[in-house]
Amino acid sequence: MPTIGIVTGSSNSLKDNYDIVIIGAGPAGLTAGIYAARARINSVIIEKNPIPGGQIINTENIENYPGFDQPIGGFELMQSFKSQAENFGVSIFNTEVVKLSKENNLFTIEMETSAGNITAKAVIISSGASPKLMGAENEKEFIGKGISFCATCDGVLYKDKVVSVIGGGDSALEEALFLTRFAKKVYLIHRRDKLRAAKILQERAFSNEKIEPIWSHVPVRVIGKDIINALELKSRVSGEKKILEVNGIFVYVGLKPNTQFIPENMLELDERGFIVTDCEMRTNVAGLFAAGDVRAKFLRQVSTAVGDGATAQHAAERFLEI
Ligand code: NAP
Repeated sequence: MPTIGIVTGSSNSLKDNYDIVIIGAGPAGLTAGIYAARARINSVIIEKNPIPGGQIINTENIENYPGFDQPIGGFELMQSFKSQAENFGVSIFNTEVVKLSKENNLFTIEMETSAGNITAKAVIISSGASPKLMGAENEKEFIGKGISFCATCDGVLYKDKVVSVIGGGDSALEEALFLTRFAKKVYLIHRRDKLRAAKILQERAFSNEKIEPIWSHVPVRVIGKDIINALELKSRVSGEKKILEVNGIFVYVGLKPNTQFIPENMLELDERGFIVTDCEMRTNVAGLFAAGDVRAKFLRQVSTAVGDGATAQHAAERFLEI
């Protein structure tokens, strides 16, 4: 019986077999866990991060999750999800799933060596998504040395400095606004001349005098040694290059799904690698469901992840009754 890891909730260790295993404890996974526990289903959530909650724990303020008349911190919101789950006896086991397979109607979930394997009759994949890199030639050298994916975590390091935010979506604008609390200047670098972020965020960003947009440019090279001094940009209109002096770079150019543990050709994926499901969160494999940011969907929000998690669990429960 695998016993290494942190189990919260009603049990002290992992069992060998479950009816439903939920991979990932973000909003979708925790919601699926709550529904499974209330239905008294033999289930567990496996989460690789010691702090459950998914990407949203790095978001400073959430204003559009219904039920809160004032903005709530992402970390705080997910702590409430977790406590609610634990109140119903949900078990969250802290380890990484390395492989998922199916044989004779039973799924095997392989985890990091020390944790071993478990089996399940149904699996809900709610492993979320991770930030993509911006595509500059030497950016990997500077990750953690001036390139960050989390303004909430690292913004304070840039007091009275100049930073750039790459991207034109909700994340880029929210984080650019957050960074204006510390930085003296925030360049918002976008590859087109139109943002895809929500209009309310655009209004706030354009009325903030510290934020300066740079349209139709992409980052091509980071300049510096151990620390960042500048960023080389290329115009997508003229092809001209220019150097922008910055101390930090915050990258928000979208997400890639966390599906590394899924064997190639097992699942139908969309062109960006997100898992295709029907409206009951069923994948093309019987007994395998996907919920939240990892699946191909129109809108990635806490509110939609919660709906996915509830639906996936209900569909999995119905599948078990067949
Ligand atoms: P996103 O919506 O996919 O936006 C990514 C941005 O990066 C786009 O503007 C895209 O440009 C740009 N981009 C993509 N690849 C690039 C590259 N290689 N170089 C330069 N720019 C590149 O991603 P996101 O902002 O992280 O948001 C992800 C999801 O979470 C979205 O569904 C979003 O609505 C949601 N979200 C919601 C909230 C909220 O409601 N509070 C907060 C954060 C995120 P193009 O526009 O040209 O494609």
